[in-house]
Amino acid sequence: MMRMRKKKHGAERLAAMSHYLLERPDVPMEAPASLFDGGDGVCLEIGCGKGGFACGMAAAHPTVNFIALERVHDVMVIATEQAESRKEERTRDNLRFAVADANDLTAWFAPHTLDAVYLNFSDPWPKARHAKRRLTHRRLLELYFTLIKDGGALFFKTDNRPLFDFTLEELAALGVTPDYVTYDLHASPYNEGNIRTEYEENFSAKGFSINALRLTVHHK
Ligand code: SAH
Repeated sequence: MMRMRKKKHGAERLAAMSHYLLERPDVPMEAPASLFDGGDGVCLEIGCGKGGFACGMAAAHPTVNFIALERVHDVMVIATEQAESRKEERTRDNLRFAVADANDLTAWFAPHTLDAVYLNFSDPWPKARHAKRRLTHRRLLELYFTLIKDGGALFFKTDNRPLFDFTLEELAALGVTPDYVTYDLHASPYNEGNIRTEYEENFSAKGFSINALRLTVHHK
């Protein structure tokens, strides 16, 4: 696995961006939208990396609030610094970040509190024995569904076809059907309004097509 070189002064740089960072709550948040001044609900990105998607979405959708999770501190430094350098793009203060692990989400959010969950270019964990670590393993998919409100949605995109096919199998095993599936997002009608992530720019520049799906969550 590629490792990021330890960032010089990482802790100080992150502390300087603490106005963007959420603290892990003592009890799961029943109303995460109350962290923000207005807006309609909360969308969550898991594994935001350098943060370009979250910055772009927050700017493009001023009525929505965005929270972006990333578990690696040194990567979060880059994401929050990008948010700071792009703050003029936002007409509302609608973007926050959290250093957090997807596996710990139930400590952050109460059930049925999120409008959408976005997974972008999640680590593929190609070895079969690591399947449980994939962020689209059925155990985690079920967790996201619990957190998403009735009528909310899960979005997933990746260049990695084996991970995408695995994800489709996991969804089928859970008995749910995506609203759409595309193996070439940029050539599809679903590309309208698509905000590209850093990985997405890299992989599409190299000629890889992007797989994407959306699934609307219906609670019984
Ligand atoms: N979404 C970004 C980065 C993709 S790389 C982009 O498309 O450009 C995947 C990112 O997910 C990495 O930054 C990695 O640290 C993060 N990640 C992996 N597992 C995670 C987990 N369990 N919880 C939170 N973030 C995770």
